[in-house]
Amino acid sequence: MNPAGPSTSGPGVDPTVPGGVGPVTGEHGPEAALAADRAATTERLASLRSEIDGIVAASADANADDEHDPEGATIAFERARASALLADAEAHLRVLEQAQTRLEAGTYAVCLSCGGPIASDRLAARPGAVTCIGCAAGGAAR
Ligand SMILES: [Zn+2]
Repeated sequence: MNPAGPSTSGPGVDPTVPGGVGPVTGEHGPEAALAADRAATTERLASLRSEIDGIVAASADANADDEHDPEGATIAFERARASALLADAEAHLRVLEQAQTRLEAGTYAVCLSCGGPIASDRLAARPGAVTCIGCAAGGAAR
């Protein structure tokens, strides 16, 4: 009953068995939002690290060639930009880990600054938020 043709996956084998996917409790809950943000941030870190590796390799070439190469400034700029993005992503990952700890402790939606509740809208938009919108606005204007 199997017509001749290129078939890489056998008819009895399902290649889409979930292996690395953990149990998700609540489709739109804070855990899912945190996990999604964490996965995206981890991916961003990996791609930035490889980007920086490439820039470092290119800059080593440029230095060997000519110290006054105008490309040197561009490479330095690109490297600084990628490093800043990397630091940003690392900081964000720490915030998400902190949020995970707070979630486990049951203080996830409690503002660190005033002890009031953090709106669920805010947490949906920023899963790593540790202060309510009022404190975030007040803190920034301080
Ligand atoms: Zn607050």
